[in-house]
Amino acid sequence: MKKFLTVLLLMLGMTNFCWAHENAQTGENAKMHEFMLKAIAEAEKNIISKDGGPFGAVIVKDGVIVGTGHNEVLKNNDPTCHAEMQAIRDACHNLKTFDLTGCELYTSCYPCPMCLSATIWANIKKVYYGNTAEDAADIGFRDDFIYKFIEGGCKDVQVLDLEQQQRDETIVTFKKFAEQTEKTIY
Ligand SMILES: [Zn+2]
Repeated sequence: MKKFLTVLLLMLGMTNFCWAHENAQTGENAKMHEFMLKAIAEAEKNIISKDGGPFGAVIVKDGVIVGTGHNEVLKNNDPTCHAEMQAIRDACHNLKTFDLTGCELYTSCYPCPMCLSATIWANIKKVYYGNTAEDAADIGFRDDFIYKFIEGGCKDVQVLDLEQQQRDETIVTFKKFAEQTEKTIY
């Protein structure tokens, strides 16, 4: 009888543990859902305001939104004002840092090469995205030619012509920087 009770208590304990674990996971999923809804809400702003394309993003740190952004290319006359870039700028401004280590990016669409690079530069290690690059292409926003340009070794001059000039002069600043004892590498 004693043995039976011990087993029963153990089983009850396990059930309780599983329930708590499942509940924590459900809570986490609800949070993730909420963050993506916020990214969608950012994207939705442009249906009315037309600041730029229908893209939105948020940056999350320790379960809290630390930066938000929507595409503002048209409003600012700035081709770098993609939603993810704006969210990164906002998070860096709010956290007073250039290093977003430990942050996660929620974006309504798969990031373009510029935003992907900026995300990596910011030390963000996790991105959640909604729409695919193909979905974006379907509404007129194509970036596959940029990926192809990079994958092809940046050799397609029809996309961009890269030509080296005056390295003997540009390298001087690099040498000065290398000689400095106090510097920040990021
Ligand atoms: Zn982008």
